[in-house]
Amino acid sequence: MISVIICGAGKGARAGFSENKLFYPLDGKTVIERTVEAFSLPFIDEIIVTSSQADEERMRALLPQANVVLGGESRTQSVRNALREVKGDIVLIHDGARPFVSEKVISDCIESVKKYDSGICALPATDTTVLAANGCIRAVPDRSEVYTVQTPQGFRTAAIRRAYELAGDEVFTDDSSVYSRYIAPAALFVGDKQNRKLTFHEDFMQETYRSGIGIDTHAFGKEQDFIVMGGIKIPSFSGLIAHSDGDVLLHAVMDALLSAAGLPDIGHYFPDSDPAYRGADSAKLLEEVVARIRAEDCTIVNLSIAVQAQAPKLAPYIGRMMEKIGGICALPPSRVGITAGTNEGLGYIGEKKGITVTAIALLKQTR
Ligand code: MG
Repeated sequence: MISVIICGAGKGARAGFSENKLFYPLDGKTVIERTVEAFSLPFIDEIIVTSSQADEERMRALLPQANVVLGGESRTQSVRNALREVKGDIVLIHDGARPFVSEKVISDCIESVKKYDSGICALPATDTTVLAANGCIRAVPDRSEVYTVQTPQGFRTAAIRRAYELAGDEVFTDDSSVYSRYIAPAALFVGDKQNRKLTFHEDFMQETYRSGIGIDTHAFGKEQDFIVMGGIKIPSFSGLIAHSDGDVLLHAVMDALLSAAGLPDIGHYFPDSDPAYRGADSAKLLEEVVARIRAEDCTIVNLSIAVQAQAPKLAPYIGRMMEKIGGICALPPSRVGITAGTNEGLGYIGEKKGITVTAIALLKQTR
């Protein structure tokens, strides 16, 4: 029978949240739920979670599949308390703040215990590590002998219980040190990088990619010998009818950006019923939209824009448009793709009655 102890009794204060970091949401579930879920496997018979008194009720409500037990003053005491409850003959001990542990790491841990009586998840050091004293290097261990130790750490239950009894009031940072001190050198197995521990605020940041589409159409008919497109003045047989400067391309870009960020469209922010936007410079409005999506913790990855216009000829101006838009969006021009095509004489576009622009934006949201 295999038991798991998940350590959740700490305060997680280094993450700087107002509550235990294990209650922080990760894709709709708390960290501790994700961690317990990772161990909810057919070959795991029992899951014990240690909790502080303050968090106990919430832990019980969140984790109906686990046995929630009260921890102690230190991690060492909490594990000792939990070990009393363990029914399995093999026990895996794991940090509550490592929700990304894989099934392979868990089963490798169990295999190691079956073979060597212990299994400590560890990663070979990739950086050079040194021992220091008084701010100076004292020794440089051979990198091939250096590992960083993670969890899960698996043991025969009787042996780790014995180790904790012998440890008395001494405080250890992990279970492999208790075991290695009192029982035997613990056996390592190589884990994976994904199994990282969420400690500091930035460790909880997640990146999400979000795409958005925007489409705009404006009709010719304004007595004017130019249009404004992509922030550039382009000679034309007629101007585009609009309340603003009629920059149909920037309007499509703005809607794509707002849509990707899940915000309302430009009509909401810049209503054409508002005289403030009469003849408005769309490039200025785009600056405002970029600020709004930044406030949503989004940065722009790229823009892709397709113009459908029978006239005027746009090709000579595309480079300048890419630069202008890139300047506003803090993108190199190469990340602002613009293609232009005619409509082969068909429909309102082909009849030079109007121009339609479709834009796609890709955003990276980090929060
Ligand atoms: Mg428009």
